[in-house]
Amino acid sequence: ATPTAIMVGTGKGAEYGVLFKNSASLEIAHQLDAVILDKTGTLTRGQPVVTDILPHHGYCETDVLRLAASAEQGSEHPLAQALVEAAQHRGLTCSEGQDFQVIPGHGIRATVDAQTVWVGNQTLMQIAEVALDKAEETAMRLADAGKTPIFIAIDGHYAGVIALADTVKPHAKEAVAALRGLGLQVLMLTGDHRRTAGAIADELGIDHVLAEVLPEAKAQQVQQLQATGQRVAMVGDGINDAPALAQADIGIAIGTGTDIAMEAADCTLVSGDLRGLVTAIQLSRRTMRTIK
Ligand code: ADP
Ligand code: MG
Repeated sequence: ATPTAIMVGTGKGAEYGVLFKNSASLEIAHQLDAVILDKTGTLTRGQPVVTDILPHHGYCETDVLRLAASAEQGSEHPLAQALVEAAQHRGLTCSEGQDFQVIPGHGIRATVDAQTVWVGNQTLMQIAEVALDKAEETAMRLADAGKTPIFIAIDGHYAGVIALADTVKPHAKEAVAALRGLGLQVLMLTGDHRRTAGAIADELGIDHVLAEVLPEAKAQQVQQLQATGQRVAMVGDGINDAPALAQADIGIAIGTGTDIAMEAADCTLVSGDLRGLVTAIQLSRRTMRTIK
């Protein structure tokens, strides 16, 4: 390998907003077989907004949103921030939550106005031993529309569903098609609802979806694909993605994401535009061709 060719390749990458941390990743990128893309914040903007509030009998929209937002005030999750913003937007005054507890990959629990409030996915409701009373069907319908359904339970009773929607990034679909055009298998990885992930994958033209994956199991998914003999790139933005980025043959971080992801990665897409990944692979192919 000529150092000059690598230096030129690395410099060209920087021009396109692709920062390689080491020359090894530029040398490996041309051998990739598969790319695993995190959903939230990587394929989507990562800024969900509340679209529907569906209270259960005996509860009203305002109560459900206010209690959910109050309970979520201690959380840094994008879904939590969206709930808090929606409450503020409606001029609701949130109470301070107490005994805040995170259940990773599922949601949160807190005490608000002396009531126990659970906010999260269906598994969280099982953990809380809350009967959903046909809410699964409502959730399924919302998920099929690409929305993330979040269940709320108050003092052991199911109180309603809030749906949140995130939008796909402007050039994500184009990047997926280009990666496919380069002969790579493209997969989506997410902790989100299977049907929500499926709807978004359809929108992007992705047919391999790994959904409802717990934060600690993301790296394992990369490893499983590697075990089939494939060279795998992982692209992600979150703290949760860091172990998977480290496990991959090449870890690629989104420049608009967390510092922890960037530290774990070999390469960063500065503006978060996934077309940078396409450029990186093309660059690697060209660079390695000059070397051989
Ligand atoms: P991802 O980063 O792919 O969204 P997470 O592991 O953070 O995955 O979350 C998986 C699912 O768990 C979310 O789709 C949501 O249903 C639920 N969840 C996680 N954190 C929260 C939270 N703070 N509030 C409500 N739901 C949550
Ligand atoms: Mg993410």
